[in-house]
Amino acid sequence: MQRLHRRRNANVLTDAQVLVASGTFQVLSDPTRLRIIHELLSGPKSVGALAIACDVSASAVSHQLQRLRDLRLVSFTRKGNTLLYELTDDHVGSFCREALYHAVAVSDSGVVAPYGRESAHDRDRRHRARAMRAIVTSSAGLTVTSLLELAVALLSGSVALLADALHNLGDVFTTVGIYFGFRMSRRVATTRFPYGYGRSEDLAGVVVVAAIWISAGVAFYQSYEKLVSGTPTTDLTLGMAAAVTGIVGNQIVARYKSRVGREINSAPLIVDAKHSLLDSAASAGALVGLVGVALGFPQADPIAGFAIGLLIVHIGIDATRDVADRLMDANDIDVTKAAERLAIAVPGVEAVGDVRARWLGREVEVRLAITLAPHLALSDASAICSQVERRVRSDLPEVRDVVVLCRSRGTAIALV
Ligand SMILES: [Zn+2]
Repeated sequence: MQRLHRRRNANVLTDAQVLVASGTFQVLSDPTRLRIIHELLSGPKSVGALAIACDVSASAVSHQLQRLRDLRLVSFTRKGNTLLYELTDDHVGSFCREALYHAVAVSDSGVVAPYGRESAHDRDRRHRARAMRAIVTSSAGLTVTSLLELAVALLSGSVALLADALHNLGDVFTTVGIYFGFRMSRRVATTRFPYGYGRSEDLAGVVVVAAIWISAGVAFYQSYEKLVSGTPTTDLTLGMAAAVTGIVGNQIVARYKSRVGREINSAPLIVDAKHSLLDSAASAGALVGLVGVALGFPQADPIAGFAIGLLIVHIGIDATRDVADRLMDANDIDVTKAAERLAIAVPGVEAVGDVRARWLGREVEVRLAITLAPHLALSDASAICSQVERRVRSDLPEVRDVVVLCRSRGTAIALV
């Protein structure tokens, strides 16, 4: 009787056990965390490898791993300088595997996705991939167009065509710079670069700005030289054909970018489409110059060259201002206001001051000072700081780091 009683007890779940089990399901209900588990099914992985495999930032992966660790679903081992994460035991692995197999079976049998719509994460990922594809395709088309223009410019001696080709090449160069900066900025922080690689995009910006100003200089110098020396323009028909190629090429790219931009609701892509429309106007300027030469005004070509040079200067000023703002850590007013509002709403925070937000590549770093009641226990103060950090980070997805300076009312000593 005694034995039987004991055995029955062993089969009854305690409240605490039920809580842990339901907490486990709750933690696993997040698509990113499930993706991480799925990646870990095939063996231990570093944060960097998980970030690439799940297509989210390394800081997001770290954040999710922390939650998984809290429930002892994953653990880590140190291998040299990197931490390798793995599933703690096979219980987690086996039921996640079952859930994922089930999902594969359901989608293979032609049944619609279980919840009828894709997650925000999946949509973001699909949109980013489409934007990237649009940018790469446009750049490839534009490279061909501008190299063609450049070849004809050298052949015919048309400086307007040269300026237009340089301008188009500058645009391609800008895109390539942003693309590589973007790729690079997703790399994980190292001991040498503990703030991560976000700034690589700004570094690429400096190179791009330099290239824009050099191409403006070349366009002006060549136009001036031609105006003074009166060198004739030859192969006019070929030159006009190249200018028309520039107009058509940029129009196609503009329409393509604006269509994709509207479909995925991407502001930068729509702005870029408008830029391409302006570019086709520049090519039209080169065409007007060449038509002028054909009509007996040889100076029309260098004058068109100057006009296109001015357009490059205009773009150069805009780009320089953007890059300078980044390098000068210009404050993002929208983010600071939102962060201040979120911080003051946290219980225990009496005042918020000195809020700063600067962009490091694609992510924002926020720094703010909060005032707390004096004589608060250090553990309570620390908990309030963590809550401020969590609130700001979870409500503002562009924010990566939050530095909270904690002050006691009446003093100015930083605790955290
Ligand atoms: Zn342009």
